[in-house]
Formats: sequence, C-alpha cells, structure tokens
Amino acid sequence: MSSIYGLMQDRPLLISQFLTYAEAYHGGREIVSRDGDGNEFHYDYRQAARRARQLAKALIRLGIKPGDRVATLAASHHRHFEMFYGVSGFGAVLHTVNPRLHDDQLVYICEHAEDRILFLDPEFLPLVARIAPRLTCIEHFVLLGDSDEIPADCPLPLNDYESMLACFDDDFAWPDFDERTASSLCYTSGTTGNPKGVLYSHRSTSLHAFAICQNAAMGLSCLDALMPIAPMYHANAWSLPYLGPMLGAKLVLPGRRLDAESLHGLIEREQVSFCAAVPTIFISLLDYLERSGKRIDSLRKATIGGTAVPPDMIKLLRDKYGCFVAQVWGMTELSPLGTMTTLTHAVASLPEPERLRFLALQGRVQFGLEIKLLDDAGQRVAHDGTTPGAMWVRGPWAAAGYFKNEGGPVLDGEGWMPTGDVGTINPEGYLRITDRMKDMIKSGGEWISSVDLENAAYAMPEVRLAAAVAVHHPRWDERPLLVLQLHPGASLDKETVRHQLAGRFAKWWLPDDVVFIDDMPMTATGKIRKADLRSRFADHLSQAGLLETAG
Ligand code: ADP
Repeated sequence: MSSIYGLMQDRPLLISQFLTYAEAYHGGREIVSRDGDGNEFHYDYRQAARRARQLAKALIRLGIKPGDRVATLAASHHRHFEMFYGVSGFGAVLHTVNPRLHDDQLVYICEHAEDRILFLDPEFLPLVARIAPRLTCIEHFVLLGDSDEIPADCPLPLNDYESMLACFDDDFAWPDFDERTASSLCYTSGTTGNPKGVLYSHRSTSLHAFAICQNAAMGLSCLDALMPIAPMYHANAWSLPYLGPMLGAKLVLPGRRLDAESLHGLIEREQVSFCAAVPTIFISLLDYLERSGKRIDSLRKATIGGTAVPPDMIKLLRDKYGCFVAQVWGMTELSPLGTMTTLTHAVASLPEPERLRFLALQGRVQFGLEIKLLDDAGQRVAHDGTTPGAMWVRGPWAAAGYFKNEGGPVLDGEGWMPTGDVGTINPEGYLRITDRMKDMIKSGGEWISSVDLENAAYAMPEVRLAAAVAVHHPRWDERPLLVLQLHPGASLDKETVRHQLAGRFAKWWLPDDVVFIDDMPMTATGKIRKADLRSRFADHLSQAGLLETAG
C-alpha cells in the first residue's frame, strides 16, 4: 500500500538539543557572565550542560511536571541561561518575568501564569518580599545565587540555587516529546487590557533559531561572541540563549548593569562581535564613545530594534565604528524576529546615500514568515513603498493566540495574525514601519507618521530622545506634538527644530509645538511610553494658547 509520506526520520525539534550539541561539539566554548555586583564568572558549555541537567533533576524532585510554569525574575547571567534548558528541557515552561513592571502587573502575570516556583536575583528580594503575600500559586522561592547571599533577616522562606543543584548529580537524559510542547512564556504589554502571555513551543523556538542565525539574516557562526543586551525577559533575549549553543558561539551575559561604560568594558575585554539591543542602549553607548574617544572594534554587527532605529545611528556606527547595524522589526508574538535589514544583490550595488536609505528601513521579510498589508476595507495594499497598510503575519514562529485565550481568537480565517503596526513594503521587499496603530496621529482624517517625524528629530545631534505624539485639536481632531529630551548640556530652541523639519515635510505634517522635557517616560523594555505623553500633553495646544495658529 502506498503512503503520501516521505521516509525520513520524524525526530522532534527540541530545545535540549541545542545544549546537547554544544556540550558534544563546542564543550570548551566560553560563557562569560556578570553578576549584579559586576563580578565576572567564566565557564563553558560542558559545565553549563551538566548544571542544566542537575537543575532538571532538582525541579522534578520538587514535583514540577511537564507543562508546569517556572518563573524567573532575573537579569541575563549564567544561572538564568541554565534555566532556559534545565526548565524547558524536560517539558516544563520557563516564564521569564519582566522585573521592571509595576507590582500589580507582576502579581497579575504570575497569578495568571500559575507559576509554581519563582527564581529571583538577590536584588529583587525586597520586591518579591513585598508582593509575596499576593502570589498564591508560588510554592517555592529560590535565590539565583549562593546560600551566603541569603540575608540573615530574609523575609521569605528561601532556598538558594547553588545548594539546590549540589543535591543532585547530572545523570539525566533529556526526554523526547512532541515538539509542539510549550517551552517558554513571555508576557507582552498588548495594545489593550492586561498583559498577554505568548507561549512559545519547542518547534517554534527551534525553527526561529534556525532561521535567524543564517547568513541571510543575522549571519552568525561559532566564531562569534554574542552578547544579548536585550534582557532574557524580553522575548527570550531575541533567541541569543538558543543561538549560542546551537552555533557554539561564545556567550557574553552582561547581567543587570547595562550602562554604557559597563557594556563598553565587556565588549572590549570579551571581544564581543555581535549584540542585540533596543536603540536607547545604543544612544547611551554612542554618547559614551563620542565623549571618551573609546572604540568598540570587535563589534562587527549589532541587531537593533524594538522601536525605529534613527538613520544617523546606523550611519555613525557603520562609518566611524565599523559596526554594521541590522535593524529588526519584531514583536514578542514573533519570537521576536519579523524583518531584518539585509542587503539584496541590487541594493548592495547602489551608491552610498541610496544604500543607506534602504538600510534605514525596518528590513526585509525573512524566509519562513509571511507579511500582508491590508487597507481599511481589508483589501491587499500594493508593495509600492508608499501605500501604508495594516500588517498581518503568518508563520511557524508567530503566535496563534494568547495564553489561556486571553483577548479571544486572534487569527483571521486564513491563519494571519494582526500586528497592530502599519507600514509600507517597497518593490525591493523592504518594510517601513510608519506607526504603531495605537501611536498613530490622525489629523483632519489624514495620517502623519510619528516615526518619520522622530527620525528627522534624531538627525539633530542635540536630541537624545524624540517622540511625536497626537494631541487634541478641536478642528483637526489630532495634531502632532514633538516631545524632545536633549543630551545633557545640549541646548536647542523650538525655532531651530521647526526650521530643521520644515525642509523635510509638508506643512501640515509639522508639529504644532515642540516641548523639551528631562524625564522621557520609558517602558520596561526600553521604549518611550507614548501613552503617558499623550495623556500628559493631551490639552497642550489649548493650554499653551496655540489653537488659533495650529493646523
Ligand atoms: P511591547 O508591546 O511591550 O513593546 P514588543 O517588544 O513585542 O512589546 O513590541 C513590538 C512592537 O514594537 C512592534 O509591534 C512594533 O510596533 C515595535 N517595533 C519593533 N521593532 C521595531 C522597529 N525596528 N521599528 C519600529 N517599530 C518597531
């Protein structure tokens, strides 16, 4: 009898395989980890793999079963890295919680996830002690450290990670199971309501890792030294904890000190060749390099994303520091990679200013993920580089819904997920995000791109952070307001800003006012909190007496 199936082995794609491979074939490749006090710890994949197996045994002894959620409140360091394997490797779910969230959100997230154990860095002890009475599901608290790091007057019943591991040997074989089994859980702010959980699987995580390390994407190999600056609780540090072992690349885990001087020291000492971060990290790092005259010569490539990357940042990093910026557009729901600025043959041969224009876009669709742009009537929008559309995505590492079906079904009839972003795609296949739907500015029925206004503001060297937000106008409904935070010591006046923008945009796109603030509100993942600015400045035009002239 004939069958439609091929005769190939049906081995499941499992996260444990990354570390098993690294142990066998790159066992001595180094992992460098920095703790909260700045102390560095060096070991290798062989030792990490052993400890991950010890951890799995410890968790199983504590009664953790496949599917159970194990939470972390931790920075990026070696123990957290071991948890990516020690938890997921036997089928439990690693829930990386963002410690920068508000207490109520932390409680909501841990309760919603029904986390059974919480592993925490010593610095989060006061925070956890504060919320512990409200964490009804947590059975054990474990300090990610040594027994001597537990304070004498510790307010919590606390075990420590090292003593826990010391009770077990590493005689453990990672089990095989269905590759669609959940592996990790990450909550995202979502556009409305409570944070929503994105539940990754072994299959989605593996396919995403395969796709993003290839030459057509991040272009990484075992010769690289990878540093995830994006924290492990932000979409699994953009997959770097998986890519390191999969490739046998060196891993440099920066801990919680993400200030420019600390990062620069680590890049230089450990010869980091690749890192992943949001633009605000690079704003500080470049500021530091420019002031100190220091270099980052080992850094050949940086993946920057999470919000639009200012074109001048891309140019400066490349021209002065020899670092190629691959901008990514992504979301927690996409594991997180959606698009990435890679060169096509045609773009590579363009003269410089035009090539840079392509590199400043959000990137090209990577093999494996599909994107469609729809207009308000749900019709496909032409990929002409000018007509914006709502972006929908489909692919094996895109979410199919949220944990516990929060927010209801998300896919359309053909399996596409709405991203909440609006963009254009040009004939060469490069995506340009014009806005997040919730951040869009609609003036007199016409859209104004906040991203474009911000990029123009970033071209002024005095500007550290820029946000264009919609403020209320009785006639036009909304008008753009440009909110700027300048570099320390820099000065700039409204007229200069207006003059700078006037040359670039149609008159009706120009902000009705420019305000300077010292305290740009930031989200827990390093993005500007535009919702706060919108409510703070909602009535700015009337309060500043600008309604007569506005619009
Ligand atoms: P949060 O909603 O908490 O910010 P995410 O990190 O998942 O969580 O954010 C994803 C969103 O970030 C995307 O939908 C998009 O709006 C924005 N984004 C990500 N990368 C870029 C980029 N390169 N340019 C512009 N916007 C981006």
